[in-house]
Amino acid sequence: MVFEKEELEFLKRLTESFGPPGFEKEPIKIIKEHVSRFSDEITTDKLGTLIYRKKGLNEQPRVLVAGHVDEVGFIVTNVTKEGFISFTGLGGWFDQVLLAQRVQIKTKKGKIIGVIGVKPPHLLKPEERDKVIKIDKMFIDIGATSKEEVEEMGVRIGDPIIPYSEFTVTMNGKVAMGKAFDDRLGAFIAAQVVKRINNHPNTLYGAATVQEEVGLRGARTAAYKINPDAAIIPEVDISGDAPGIKPEEAPAKMGKGPSIITYDASMIPNQELKEFIIQVAEEERIPYQLSQVKKGGTDAGIIHITGVGCPCIVVGVPTRYIHSHVGVFSLEDLENTVKLIVSAVKRLDRETVENFTKI
Ligand SMILES: [Zn+2]
Repeated sequence: MVFEKEELEFLKRLTESFGPPGFEKEPIKIIKEHVSRFSDEITTDKLGTLIYRKKGLNEQPRVLVAGHVDEVGFIVTNVTKEGFISFTGLGGWFDQVLLAQRVQIKTKKGKIIGVIGVKPPHLLKPEERDKVIKIDKMFIDIGATSKEEVEEMGVRIGDPIIPYSEFTVTMNGKVAMGKAFDDRLGAFIAAQVVKRINNHPNTLYGAATVQEEVGLRGARTAAYKINPDAAIIPEVDISGDAPGIKPEEAPAKMGKGPSIITYDASMIPNQELKEFIIQVAEEERIPYQLSQVKKGGTDAGIIHITGVGCPCIVVGVPTRYIHSHVGVFSLEDLENTVKLIVSAVKRLDRETVENFTKI
């Protein structure tokens, strides 16, 4: 097993916790409790992002490692008089992955489980079988038969919903399956980096940002508050090894090391920082892959243009089936991403960071 039992349990608790965009208190509290043992200051911004600091040998530069803690989820939009719940996405979903899945709704009376209902095949016309059913035609069934019964269970318009999915490790101990890997893996990595690092020539900030999936919102307020001199954003990358994906669509593969994102729709990284990360990986003999994400962005898309700008790089854990009930990633890739970022932060002294933007 790559990680110690305690660390794997933290990862399980973190990924199974309830935190769609705007409703991240539960995973934020789990991280706060975890990092309080090795941070010297814990604060938040006023949107809800958790910021924790570990002093190093120098006050400057300020280095940020930020992973977003929200997961793609849903929100209740209506309850029918027959007792079915309409809903819409918080974050991007491919509607086809939703049918017949269990979900969890958080109400003022507590959490309840429902299922996204679907017509049995016996009732489908041949032309219906070939069509993708859109989310606005779907409903959640919580076992009620009337609107009153749904209300009695505590469900109201505006209640948040997440996929219901257990974190499990495969039989060979190498691979994990579960929900919310985008980007609880990043939030986990940031916490691990702050835990493991010592005597670094900078001040290190870890952040668990909120509301990334609805437009990189927490990254904006957190970067304003921290004012970092350089930032590394741990994320998931799309693993291109599943059947039907072309290498030019997603070059990284699960199990082949962290991916260094050379380009995405929200940022062209600082090239000196990119080359620095590659050099660190090579010198430390950490496997890595060069990747790109044509469609889609990350928190770095906002952090690199906050204030006067900030050199940023995204380092990803190649993950299969992101934005669904069950993602799949290699624990060794996760460990190597932590190692790569720890090794990089240890070398980020004032001169190195100044050189990222020197003409
Ligand atoms: Zn993400």
